[in-house]
Amino acid sequence: MVRPTRFEHNRWLGDKRNQRVHDLDRVVDRCRLDELLASEQFATFGPDTLAEARNRGYRPCPHCVARDA
Ligand SMILES: [Zn+2]
Repeated sequence: MVRPTRFEHNRWLGDKRNQRVHDLDRVVDRCRLDELLASEQFATFGPDTLAEARNRGYRPCPHCVARDA
């Protein structure tokens, strides 16, 4: 899957609808990122880390985030 260029400075992208966070370096088709972007219900994090996403209540996407991340 092609990494969305609009997020070239972000690695982690949250889905506000289900509180999932995706790793943009590893997204796969099953992440349905195109659908998330179309919905515009996404969130970026500052700092751009998985830890920050977790602090904000997001859970790792099972498709693109390593289980031990
Ligand atoms: Zn994902």
